[in-house]
Amino acid sequence: MNGTSAPPHHHLWRKFCVGFGVLAVVAALGWGAARFFLQPAESAETASLSLTFPLADPTAPPTAEDILAAGREESPAPSTESSVEISPVESSSVETLVRLAKGDTVARVLQKLGVASGDIGNTIAALAERVRLKSLPVGQALTVKMGPADDADATPVLLALTIRPEPRREITLERDGEGGYSVEEEIFAVTAKRERASGEVEGSVIASAEAAGVPRGPLAEMLRAFSWDVNFQHDIKVGDRFDVLIERSWTSDGQAVDDGRVLWAELTTGGGDERFSVYRFQPQGGEDFFYNRDGESVVKALLRTPLNMSRISSRFGHRRHPVLKFTRLHAGVDFAAPTGTPILAAGAGRVVEAGRNGGYGRWVKISHDGGLATGYAHMSRIAPGVRRSARVRQGQVIGFVGSTGLSTGPHLHFELHRHGRPVDPLSVARTAQRTRLGGKELERFKAHVTEMDLAREMVATTENQTTDNP
Ligand SMILES: [Zn+2]
Repeated sequence: MNGTSAPPHHHLWRKFCVGFGVLAVVAALGWGAARFFLQPAESAETASLSLTFPLADPTAPPTAEDILAAGREESPAPSTESSVEISPVESSSVETLVRLAKGDTVARVLQKLGVASGDIGNTIAALAERVRLKSLPVGQALTVKMGPADDADATPVLLALTIRPEPRREITLERDGEGGYSVEEEIFAVTAKRERASGEVEGSVIASAEAAGVPRGPLAEMLRAFSWDVNFQHDIKVGDRFDVLIERSWTSDGQAVDDGRVLWAELTTGGGDERFSVYRFQPQGGEDFFYNRDGESVVKALLRTPLNMSRISSRFGHRRHPVLKFTRLHAGVDFAAPTGTPILAAGAGRVVEAGRNGGYGRWVKISHDGGLATGYAHMSRIAPGVRRSARVRQGQVIGFVGSTGLSTGPHLHFELHRHGRPVDPLSVARTAQRTRLGGKELERFKAHVTEMDLAREMVATTENQTTDNP
């Protein structure tokens, strides 16, 4: 956010009615959306790629993260022209609000406004002491105050310039009597506030939470926290609800300093059949992440599904083989997905097989802890670097859906082996072991849960408002 957001009460506590088109909207949030959001953030002066991944964690699946990866790099709608609003301040001077367009620099903006080149040089030199001019984003606002020229042929005079490179810092440049420039910096006080957003899931969790004003960073955190338990495509039904408590910092004049972070979140699935609650907690010496009410980490050793966008087309068990035309054990689960859909490593491990494997076509097998191994068949392509004995992270893209080998159409055939024998991936993934807090840490966590439950109720009772941190 670039400090242009409305105060929090404009965002929160909107409610939703249930609508249709659940699948359509969810389907629209596949890798196309991920790719869209993964476009490099545009900078006014450089085109450098700078993505920040909040809570980067090598063991986490990319599901929500990837979709919203660039959440903190939110760039304003690209414009081709600098937008300029001019308002007369006094009869002798004019104040102009300019937003940097793609490729703009502060110097170029001043040049366009007709400022003399000597003044531009002095202005840039003075500003550069306080502002990293090369890293200003597209859309960055500048307020420029101009005075009339001394005589008819001369260029107008730059009287003052204000820029807010970060929500908490405002830099003001002013011309002094001698024609030099002085720069002042104002630092705004910042307060952390708790905000709560909730509503019914209409269309998709992403769309509904965004509509309720949940910023992208916390939204990505929330989706990731649920991603080991919830398949956002299959499990969300009409009537499901989300509820999230966020902590976010604001300046004294009402600009958001950051996207905030999730303290607690809840999501129902199956139209209210199941309820998942997650609490942010950092155990001693451990990672700051999410735990369920019982103090179990949300992280599971294996992902529920190794694809973001797919539907199950054939389950584990005895089946008549569509190509071989006789009944035999279908030793895995088939996920129908378009050719080229990225396939994710279900868990961290080591590649033990990667290459052609008869009827399995292009195939990758990964060995995991605890005597588990996963296999991925019929790939159109194996991802670069995925070769025998390579280490992979959970959620790492290891290849792409295809139809190589004995296959009737593009799909992923996914196998799970336990001590060398195929087992049903869907049943095991649900019960995969989680790490649980114990001893003193569990006691500390339980106290934290009580505190959060109370904090949340306090925010909830002050509808349309935020409360200050206790
Ligand atoms: Zn299969």
